[in-house]
Amino acid sequence: MATGKINVSVENIFPLIKKFLYSDHEIFLRELISNATDATLKLKHLTSIGEASVEYGNPVIEVKADKDKQTLHIIDQGIGMTKEEVEKYINEVAFSGAEEFLEKYKDSAKDSGIIGHFGLGFYSAFMVANKVEIITKSYKDEPAAHWICEGTTDFSLEEADKTERGTEIILHINDDEKEFLEDNRISELLTKYNKFMPIPIKFGTKEKELPKAEDAPEDEEAKKVTVDNIINNPEPAWTKQPTDLEEEDYKNFYRELYPMQFEEPLFHIHLNVDYPFNLTGILYFPKLSNDMAMQKDKIQLYQNQVFVTDNVEGIVPEFLTMLKGVIDSPDIPLNVSRSYLQADGAVKKISSYITRKVADKLKSLFNNNREDFEKKWDDIKVVIEYGMLTEDKFFEKAQKFTLYPTVDGEYFTYEELEEKIKDNQTDKDGKMVILYASNKDEQHSYISAAKEKGYQVLLLDTPIVPHLIQKLESSKENISFVRVDSDHVDNLIKKDEDKTSKLSEEEQEKLKADFEKVVPKEKYTVQLEAMDSNAAPLIITQPEFMRRMKEMQQTGGGGMFGMGNMPEMYNLVVNTNNDLISSLVGKEEAEQERIIKQSLDLARLSQNLLKGEELTNFVKRSFEMIK
Ligand code: ADP
Ligand code: MG
Repeated sequence: MATGKINVSVENIFPLIKKFLYSDHEIFLRELISNATDATLKLKHLTSIGEASVEYGNPVIEVKADKDKQTLHIIDQGIGMTKEEVEKYINEVAFSGAEEFLEKYKDSAKDSGIIGHFGLGFYSAFMVANKVEIITKSYKDEPAAHWICEGTTDFSLEEADKTERGTEIILHINDDEKEFLEDNRISELLTKYNKFMPIPIKFGTKEKELPKAEDAPEDEEAKKVTVDNIINNPEPAWTKQPTDLEEEDYKNFYRELYPMQFEEPLFHIHLNVDYPFNLTGILYFPKLSNDMAMQKDKIQLYQNQVFVTDNVEGIVPEFLTMLKGVIDSPDIPLNVSRSYLQADGAVKKISSYITRKVADKLKSLFNNNREDFEKKWDDIKVVIEYGMLTEDKFFEKAQKFTLYPTVDGEYFTYEELEEKIKDNQTDKDGKMVILYASNKDEQHSYISAAKEKGYQVLLLDTPIVPHLIQKLESSKENISFVRVDSDHVDNLIKKDEDKTSKLSEEEQEKLKADFEKVVPKEKYTVQLEAMDSNAAPLIITQPEFMRRMKEMQQTGGGGMFGMGNMPEMYNLVVNTNNDLISSLVGKEEAEQERIIKQSLDLARLSQNLLKGEELTNFVKRSFEMIK
């Protein structure tokens, strides 16, 4: 058996870097600015611990394009490199000077915010440039160095006469990447990736109006001065301590993050942990609307203040992806596939930390100002209900603050609801029945019938409600949710009550047969009930189970029952104690048929089921009748 070493040479790696390392060419600028930032932060650290005896000053990173020469320049005032350092850090591909620095200054520099760690970022420059130059002067008392490379393994390295400390990277942009010399394109990239980086970044200049003197005449034009155009906010809100921020600061940061968003967030959650992983950030609960601008604003993921992505799938639990804001963590592995991410231990911990923080925040909002929480409920319920459905941990915590609104605008927690209804709404088998409606107007007659009995009716109107109540029923003992229109009111909550019918057994049998002659069988099951004589003569209901399965099928899930194409089936409840019905007995057949048809249409009308031609005919017929 032969053994040996596979030889990976830089010659082989170059084309790979150019083609595959980063699918997105535009990230080269992010990488080079990250390096310039690292160089500046390193200097800051060395001066702070007394290892570099130079003036740190107020360093700025500058980005400049020269269209004539087709070059892009990234200039910093950081630690720079000596000739030997260029050889070591640049020529050795995949050797990270950032990692080495962090290793060396382990204890003091762990919070320095240094970004790099793969030792490959610099070479992303060759995705857009055919030639790259480095002119660099170290903070150490040594001559400057000039490195030139044209995208092959050959390079030249000479002394240079640069006298100010720092590094200038010069990219000779490829003909087919010239877009990266355009002001607009550069601005776009800087705003996307570098908007919150920790060192000021200058791109060109801008005019600034000076404040007018107090005694200046009205019509005097304001004086203008030219100032550096700094594109970033080096100290974004999420890097500060919550105690140093006011409500207004959080709102301002939201606007900074989403300049096109004019709706204010409902509330925020400041994330801040450093053990067992590092994570900071601010999440906002937005008002959920159908506004398209809203959908585009997503949670942004940063690593040490560098924008990475706004696809946080796998890192943030799915139900929270509807939130807005920022998460910043150096502990999230970035260059790996999403499926790997989901299995990563640190990422799992991050996800459950975020879930916990959100639950805690909701609980404290509920405890501290219930009235306000109730007001916001309609805007946040979708997120909460979805979270209850998908995250068991959240489901548990949510018991303390989930609200169950009634059709009359009262809000109960589950505990309060139980207390309120358990006496009146427990059926003969000891099951507590929670009545709900999904639409106040459409189900009005059913709601009033239930209220007349002293029942509480909840208003549950989000599309995931069928799924959620399924989950609630299985997690709590002996309860069931029943929609008000799923049976006639006496059957919604079955109690041991004698029902006496005005009609004899035979009369009832005959009546049922008469109805079945007139009413379409494939749609309605005729069900005779001895109800209160004041209750409606005919009621159309849809059994809870059937309707719920159908709804679940429509919103995903439940499909295993194969009920997608199930026909609409209803029960036609006939109140044998209502005078109109009892008087049908013994009537002439034609007269019976006329009354049954007309009352069926009325019952359909109150369930919103009478439409189109049938409705037209009904209206016509009714006019005829009152003539
Ligand atoms: P990483 O940033 O992951 O360490 P890079 O390929 O981006 O890897 O950079 C390699 C190394 O080159 C850096 O670690 C740093 O030591 C050096 N370097 C790159 N750019 C600069 C710069 N602007 N100033 C000083 N050193 C730099
Ligand atoms: Mg780097």
